[in-house]
Parts: sequence; structure tokens; C-alpha cells
Amino acid sequence: MHEMTITRSLVDITLEEAGKANATKVTSVSIVLGEMSGAVDQSVEFYFELMTRDTIAEGAKINFRKVPNRAKCRKCGNIFKPGGIFWECDKCHSMEMEIISGRELYVESIEVD
Ligand SMILES: [Zn+2]
Repeated sequence: MHEMTITRSLVDITLEEAGKANATKVTSVSIVLGEMSGAVDQSVEFYFELMTRDTIAEGAKINFRKVPNRAKCRKCGNIFKPGGIFWECDKCHSMEMEIISGRELYVESIEVD
């Protein structure tokens, strides 16, 4: 996964929001990170630090809120955590499912001064 590209957009959003709030400093950023988003938190953190250098978000603390992957069975409505090679409903064993969480990757909130 391309953490660099992902982080670029997270940084852009952070700076844009900070600008709207007329902030002089971003103190912390909360990022929602889905288990299946494909992004690794350490990499995002690394790029974030790099990309916010000489901006008002330099030195901002990053808080990750990890979201586990969850799927909803299209047959019986059961909500479960898919895992393993074959993903199937743990109740009716149907393989028709809808991923309802785990792909999230966005800035949830920022704190500014
Ligand atoms: Zn089912």
C-alpha cells in the first residue's frame, strides 16, 4: 500500500481544516485506521512527521483509532469478523457478505491552538 500517497492526503486535510479554524498550531490529529485499509500506522506516522515539517502541524501528536474488520452476511444478517483464507459467515457459512468496517482511513478530528 502507498502510505506516502495516503499520508499526503491526510496531511492536506489536516492543514486545510487547521486553516479554516485560523489555527496557528496543530497539536494533535486523530486518524481512523481500518484493519484492512492496508496502511501501517508506523509508516503513516513517519510520513506525517516528514510532510508536516515547517508547517503548523509540525510536531503534532498522532492518535490512531484502529477499526477491526467486520462483515455482514447477506443471507442471515449475522455480523462477524472475517478471517483466514476463505471468508464465510460463521453462522450459516455463506460466502456472500458485505464488508461493513475495516477499510476506514481518514482524519477524524484535529486539535489546534
Ligand atoms: Zn450467514
